[in-house]
Amino acid sequence: MTRRLTGFQPTGNLHLGNLIGAMRPLVAAQDRPSIAMIADLHALTMEHDPETVRANTLTVATVLLAAGVDPQRTAIIANSQVPEHTELHYLLECVTGYGEAARMIQFKEKSGAGGTVRLSLLTYPVLMAADILVHDVDQVPVGEDQSQHLELARTIATRFNARYGATFVVPEGIRPESAARIMDLADPARKMSKSAPSPAGRIGLLDPPETIRKVISRAVTDTAGVVRHDREGQPGVTNLLEILRACSGREPGELTSYGALKREVTDAVEAVLAPIRARYAELSEDPSHVREVLAKGKASVQPRATETVRRTRAAIGLLD
Ligand code: AMP
Repeated sequence: MTRRLTGFQPTGNLHLGNLIGAMRPLVAAQDRPSIAMIADLHALTMEHDPETVRANTLTVATVLLAAGVDPQRTAIIANSQVPEHTELHYLLECVTGYGEAARMIQFKEKSGAGGTVRLSLLTYPVLMAADILVHDVDQVPVGEDQSQHLELARTIATRFNARYGATFVVPEGIRPESAARIMDLADPARKMSKSAPSPAGRIGLLDPPETIRKVISRAVTDTAGVVRHDREGQPGVTNLLEILRACSGREPGELTSYGALKREVTDAVEAVLAPIRARYAELSEDPSHVREVLAKGKASVQPRATETVRRTRAAIGLLD
């Protein structure tokens, strides 16, 4: 059976796009072995506040549970807590070229932002390769922004296997069947993102109902005055229709005004987020439970990860 790994950045700004594009497909596919990985090590590649990273890692784990990820079936892990990730990272650096890492688009973009460039920003796609390869996963749901990094992971795995003998499963990138791409409500030309300069276009998973209502009521539409699905001509309205479909699970009925559309979207989003918010509040009362979930996740994936590292060490020429 196929094994999947889905990665999440440790951010307090998880939004509706993350839920619809990543968490729900994860929940829908829990009949197959899956890992939900919080990439807290990746958060260290840019200027960061230690307490914030720690808190955000727990927040993301808590949101995953609140959104229905079942820790009995899906291992929820933080990559920092499974040291096999970093051990494999170094070994994979030994089969990766400097030029390969330096031409990653995200490295170019983030390293051009000014300030000191951390070496880890250059090498983190190799860590991401290790995150995937250490678990022998064969499917990785990825958005467009991560497809270049997944391609690097495939290149590294293929090269290692060719040079040192069959060691890694070469993973395949997939687009989850049920995942829609949710766009920014204030600027429907860009996707809803945790790093958008303004929160005006983002629906946070833990936002109170009043904020959700406000953000949706101010969503950018157009002057056509017709509610219809037309991604090119009416991107704002189309995005609202897609959110409505994703949240209500059905095709919207006849809607005659943008006001009516926005009211329907608000109700549908609230119906999806209210139970997640409530469950999150319950779970937050007992952070030790969330820490236990991470510890159990680690324990469940570690035997395989240890075996992958052992295989890799042997293949590349290290003593056992
Ligand atoms: P990130 O934490 O931004 O790396 O995103 C985590 C997951 O959510 C990835 O699988 C992304 O593809 C998915 N995701 C992020 N933003 C969106 C969006 N606006 N629409 C759909 N999926 C998204």
